[in-house]
Amino acid sequence: MRKIQVALLLSLAAVPALAQSNAELMANDHYTRSHDYDLVHQRIVVSDFDWDSTSFRGSVTTTLIALRPGLDSIVLDEGALLENTAVEDRSGTALRTARHGDTVVVFPAAPARFGDTLVFTIAYRGRVKNGNGLTYITTDGLPHRPRQIWSQGEDHDNHYWFPTFDFPSDKMTWELVATVPREDMAVSNGRLVSDVTRGATRTLTWRQEQPSATYLVSLVVAPLVKIHDAWKAVPVDYYVYREDSAKAWRLFHVTPDMINTYSVLTGVPYPWAKYAQTTVADFFGGMENVSATTLIDGLPDDRAYQDRPWYGWLLIPHELAHMWFGDYVTTVNWANLWLNEGFAEFMPGQYWGRKLGAHAAQDYYADEYRQYMNIDRRRPMPLASLGSNNIYPKGALVLEMLRDYLGPERFWASIHRYLGDHAFGVATTDDLRQAVLEATGENLDWFWSEWVYQAGYPQFDVAATYDSTQHALTLTVKQTQDTLHADSTTPRPGMPASVSPDSARVRFTTPAAFRMPLVVRVGTAAGDVTQRVQIGAREQTVTIPNVQSAPTMVVFDDGNRVLKSLHFEEPTAWLATQLRRDDDLWDRAWAIRQLGARTGDSAAGAALADAAMHADYFLTRVDALRMLGGFPAAAVFPAAAAALADTSAAVRAAALAALARLGGAQAATLARGAWNNDSSYDVRAAAVSALVELDSAGARDVITAALAEPSYQDAIQNAALQAIALRNDTAFVGAVDRLIGPSRNAVFVLAALGARGSAHALDLLAAHLDEPRRAVRGWALQAFQFSLPRPVALERLRAAANGITHADAKTAVQDAIREMEAVPGR
Ligand SMILES: [Zn+2]
Repeated sequence: MRKIQVALLLSLAAVPALAQSNAELMANDHYTRSHDYDLVHQRIVVSDFDWDSTSFRGSVTTTLIALRPGLDSIVLDEGALLENTAVEDRSGTALRTARHGDTVVVFPAAPARFGDTLVFTIAYRGRVKNGNGLTYITTDGLPHRPRQIWSQGEDHDNHYWFPTFDFPSDKMTWELVATVPREDMAVSNGRLVSDVTRGATRTLTWRQEQPSATYLVSLVVAPLVKIHDAWKAVPVDYYVYREDSAKAWRLFHVTPDMINTYSVLTGVPYPWAKYAQTTVADFFGGMENVSATTLIDGLPDDRAYQDRPWYGWLLIPHELAHMWFGDYVTTVNWANLWLNEGFAEFMPGQYWGRKLGAHAAQDYYADEYRQYMNIDRRRPMPLASLGSNNIYPKGALVLEMLRDYLGPERFWASIHRYLGDHAFGVATTDDLRQAVLEATGENLDWFWSEWVYQAGYPQFDVAATYDSTQHALTLTVKQTQDTLHADSTTPRPGMPASVSPDSARVRFTTPAAFRMPLVVRVGTAAGDVTQRVQIGAREQTVTIPNVQSAPTMVVFDDGNRVLKSLHFEEPTAWLATQLRRDDDLWDRAWAIRQLGARTGDSAAGAALADAAMHADYFLTRVDALRMLGGFPAAAVFPAAAAALADTSAAVRAAALAALARLGGAQAATLARGAWNNDSSYDVRAAAVSALVELDSAGARDVITAALAEPSYQDAIQNAALQAIALRNDTAFVGAVDRLIGPSRNAVFVLAALGARGSAHALDLLAAHLDEPRRAVRGWALQAFQFSLPRPVALERLRAAANGITHADAKTAVQDAIREMEAVPGR
């Protein structure tokens, strides 16, 4: 049903969109939904949760203020499965209501005047389609999976479990009263005001006393233990399964320091009554429910920290950043969502930069850069646009660029202004622009236009010539970005039908020339010459005087201040010098890629081997090992062999990949040594992949051993499963099938074997459609939907459909068949 709402918004947008540019639509707040009241407070009472029927009882008392005279009907969002049993106003008078799809209309006893306060209570029998608003999890006999319920509101799903105004533009305060089985905990937003056990039940009351958005209302019901921590006087609590309690402190205890750092950077002390982080099963990652973040379960064990788990590196600091960006100041509508997600993705890099140094920040943003390039290749979209595909990585990169441009004092003063001006409120992109203008006095209209309201990034094509008589270096700088295909109405070559062209027909543009200041650094025997250059034309010439001797390197955009791609043909000697001397990780990675393409050039191989062994940051050593692969064995082997003793697990894993490409008995011996002896899960997983390639006679033994090897997030087992799929080794069909349950991936490997012709694999997979474990039934169906050729999947599902005994599974299979029949596909 949420899809229908979004489709409606898009079709409404289509008409005026033809006349307005993206920037105009954003500036005019085109995407914010209208309503005629101000939601003030809701008291949400829920109880009688039933896991079999995914039902519960609810009662919601709503306080709102009329925003038009004569308000005689109040429209709230309310899921069609919520069955109202009584609707009354404050005096107990029953109120007339009407239902239309996922809305309810409440008619007050008398029309309200402008500014009047209205209070009414809706009592209902609640039921959800599992996963819409609430997800009920059953144990299913699986390990590490207590029975539980979690909510997920963003973006329009909270109205599936309680009636509300389900759009971010109107904030409220709330109280949530949950009655749950006595052995369970119920975690929600704000302050815990009471916790009473009566007989078999326990009732917890949470009060969110500062306004926030309705999509951030949260409830988790599960048997959890609380591990208490604190930042100053603010409780910081970690709610985890009892069996995870020994792992929780090491993972989460970084939180108070992160809270402190974010408070200092933004100048806004952590604004909420407490901060809870609660782990649940089958979650997609994390959700920044105000003061009560929900997170995926699966906590790293001690050994996993060698592999820098994503959980601590990105997930915890990302969700925490939302407490300021998203929850304290919230996007007014989904078209400005980058204000939430861009900042949340930007802030962890700031934290790691302060804690671990500049390289850690560059490392963090290098990953954002890779993600952004992969997205933009498919479809360039502006950061600020409805449905933008790049709000996380491009948001992080553009904010980092703005921080570089303004310098930290002016940048953080701007952010402080933005947060202060919209505290407990909502904001548009233009509000951020205005805050920067007010805090710095500098009009950056050009920055917002090119980096936020338009699509793409500068694609530089640079050529250098040195004039030894004039002692000058001349750079020809072209910007070659495609300005035509960013227009969302124009299909791009190779663009999949599913993403082209924009149904809203908003015209996106890419600047023909981005304007930015940058620095060129020229190395010479007598020292470096640097020059600040203003870039701003499709093609321009830059002359750098006082270059007294022939350059030893030329760094275009020293320090990587501009989000860009760069094509610059340089002599190998320049690149090698840059790789050795340049402190910036993006610059080094760029030089490594150039060198890596010169596989016939022994100087290039030597430079890469040197970096692989001696660079001062592990990511550079990893990048160099990756690019060494195509070089002769004499260049690769010593570097890769030495790298197996590196202190960084990521480097050792990259060395194994390089050895696997190289081949040979010596490489196999080294890989076997890593498999037998390395302490890192990721390195041992890489050793499995390498050994399968290097020693085909021993491959099955290694796979068998790896399938049984426990590791964090099954890294080693997954390497074995991947090897089975890649080798299409049907000897393992039975072994893979036996892993299904504890392993979700095994389902998809079975599907991969089936897709390549194993009828036995398909038979086993089909049997899981109707097995006792609800979660596994769902995974099996997903495998049919997404991992098999459509004709094969349809044939098998049709054959299975009638015999399925579990009602939910039968309905799901029938729905899937209908969907697959309706959409022409692979
Ligand atoms: Zn986020």
